[in-house]
Amino acid sequence: MYNINSLKAEEFISHEEIEATLAYADANKDNLTLIDEILAKARLGKGLNHREASVLLACEQEDTIQQIYTLAEQIKKDYYGNRIVLFAPLYLSNYCVNGCVYCPYHLKNKHIARKKLTQEEIKKEVTALQDMGHKRLAIEAGEDPVNNPIEYILECIDTIYSIKHKNGAIRRVNVNIAATTVENYRKLKDAGIGTYILFQETYHKESYEKLHPTGPKHDYAYHTEAMDRAMEGGIDDVGLGVLFGLELYRYELAGLLMHAEHLEAVHGVGPHTISVPRLKKADDIDPDTFDNGISDDTFAKICAIIRISVPYTGMIISTRESQTVRERVLPLGVSQISGASKTSVGGYANPEQEEEITSAQFDVSDQRTLDEVVNWLMKMDYLPSFCTACYREGRTGDRFMELCKSKQILNCCHPNALITLKEYLEDYACEETKQIGIKLIERELENIPKEKVRELTAQHIKDIENGQRDFRF
Ligand code: SAM
Repeated sequence: MYNINSLKAEEFISHEEIEATLAYADANKDNLTLIDEILAKARLGKGLNHREASVLLACEQEDTIQQIYTLAEQIKKDYYGNRIVLFAPLYLSNYCVNGCVYCPYHLKNKHIARKKLTQEEIKKEVTALQDMGHKRLAIEAGEDPVNNPIEYILECIDTIYSIKHKNGAIRRVNVNIAATTVENYRKLKDAGIGTYILFQETYHKESYEKLHPTGPKHDYAYHTEAMDRAMEGGIDDVGLGVLFGLELYRYELAGLLMHAEHLEAVHGVGPHTISVPRLKKADDIDPDTFDNGISDDTFAKICAIIRISVPYTGMIISTRESQTVRERVLPLGVSQISGASKTSVGGYANPEQEEEITSAQFDVSDQRTLDEVVNWLMKMDYLPSFCTACYREGRTGDRFMELCKSKQILNCCHPNALITLKEYLEDYACEETKQIGIKLIERELENIPKEKVRELTAQHIKDIENGQRDFRF
């Protein structure tokens, strides 16, 4: 049944293979010889397969867990350095015809305020986002062929890219919309999107069908095969994720890694990013009514195991997580975080008032401003990055992976991070953040190995001080 190369969901995410994997993991969770071999393989930085990763996840020995954390930190440093890329979600419309039982946008929710942004409202949202300093967005929408057809999404993308307010610009639009056709993915590609993101929610087919009882999203195969269609449509940066809390986390990790292995086997390139959202309270959703919530310890362990299993895949943590949890998992391999997010439709230009009927998708735990997030990152010695260079330079899919594998990030991503941070400091930072940032840039310039690149970066930083913008390597 299990066939990594098959294009059928139930063959590349085979239930039997996941069950066999979990049994293998249970049988070996205290097999220290095998665990040492797995850790030794991970140390080479070439990743782990779903069976190996599942053994580590099942292992409860404190010493092994510590080794996993140490290794995750090392791999993160080797491949990503101390950069953290920043982005914000932009909710376009919460009209939705699906019946997802965990999401307040489900069709039967008559209580939530339904909103769809006009192009004029998008201008206001994007202007507000640019005024914070954002350069990279993830657009979000419910699934509704009448209210949010692909033409609407494409028009929104055009509008977003066209807005140039003061020194602001949105330079990369990632897209998180429902599974669609190859033809529509091609249109998204032509519109110049960055990553196409689609969370699987759960890899467990039976649960998936119960959790999505009605609407087009009910179709497990159509949803699970979406990334293959996206890649067929020419999108080679795709973002995976599961919504932790819906099903057993060990099942999900095995499924997630099998999905990544499948994309690599069939398309020659694995996922660009993996997101690890956890179920949150929302309008008519109470996470406590779901049985599979995971503790912060388990969450951290999952993040670390993802990092060592797919070293070249970015990992995203959203504002669903609190500052404390974000602090804990950042060193374990996170490469991108959202900041100052609003999950309501129109929430950046017009923040919702307490007494107002909400249009939000879920409660945000980390409610800090972008400047507070940037300041916080730098105080912990991370380098906040607003870089969008790779896809604008055509470094997508395997070309990005090559950069990562050859560890050229210090000569490319690192300078781009410094340049875009400098833009942020000049245009949007408060005085304290600016002073911390200037010192950080001075220090980090020294870490660029190639002399020529170092000199050019220093020159660009001066040029930015003198009013120029948008340099990139
Ligand atoms: N409608 C699209 C789809 O079906 O994929 C777009 C995605 S939706 C705007 C973004 C994601 O939010 C969903 O894929 C889901 O994982 C997540 N989500 C939904 N309800 C949530 C909740 N109560 N707490 C946390 N995340 C939630």
